[in-house]
Amino acid sequence: MYFESWNKKMLRTPFVAGNWKMNTTKASAIDLAKAVAKGAPSSGVQVGVAPPFVYLDAVYQAVAGTSVLVGAQDIYIEKSGAFTGEICADMLKDVGTQFVLTGHSERRHVLHEASALIGKKAHAAYAAGLIVVHCVGEKLDERDGGKTLSVVQAQLEELSNQMQDPDRVVIAYEPVWAIGTGRTATDEQAQEVHAYIRGAISKLWNKDFADHVRIIYGGSMKPENAKALMSKPDVDGGLIGGAALKADSFLAIVKAAL
Ligand code: PEP
Repeated sequence: MYFESWNKKMLRTPFVAGNWKMNTTKASAIDLAKAVAKGAPSSGVQVGVAPPFVYLDAVYQAVAGTSVLVGAQDIYIEKSGAFTGEICADMLKDVGTQFVLTGHSERRHVLHEASALIGKKAHAAYAAGLIVVHCVGEKLDERDGGKTLSVVQAQLEELSNQMQDPDRVVIAYEPVWAIGTGRTATDEQAQEVHAYIRGAISKLWNKDFADHVRIIYGGSMKPENAKALMSKPDVDGGLIGGAALKADSFLAIVKAAL
């Protein structure tokens, strides 16, 4: 069983993305993006950076012609119109965006985004040809109450199994209690939930899709713990917050994925 999981892991190129959240200035975003592009391996791992909306264009120009993907931290579900403050898929694509985060815990729990809206966002991004990085994960009281797997299951069900291309769907398991707290899930805790997610995806889509889809870990991942986490058979990379704001630490995590 373990051996089979390892063979299946070979089917998947690791995905490591930096979520810069509401950080950086235009100048520091460009510098960081250039440093990431300079140090990122050209193959063996898919590397992405997700700057604030207003710097997407500049960051895309900074990494154009390299293997680094540019991602947005959010998206709106409509194509255009009277939606003050919102940004649609075509606008994102117009400035070079290739992936979009959906369901990040800060959007779920700080900005109170509803599950139905999150699902529509993921669908809008996928339908526009973007890679969807869909974040799932339980809060501490949910873990303590034994609800981790049911919470994650419900968040996975926000996605539609009409999303048929496994290269454009990435699941980020991010236990909320580990995000920005310095507290990381153990390798075993991460592997347990990742294996569950792969099994759930196999049922919601099919086994072939589940074997190919990347399931990445997020939550205080840093150079010191990245290798052990990403060595687990169902952990296919990372979504990195704090440690992505410095090129050295982000690139050390990227290299740990090889
Ligand atoms: C995140 O916000 O997606 C994240 C994983 O943050 P951090 O690495 O800072 O915990």
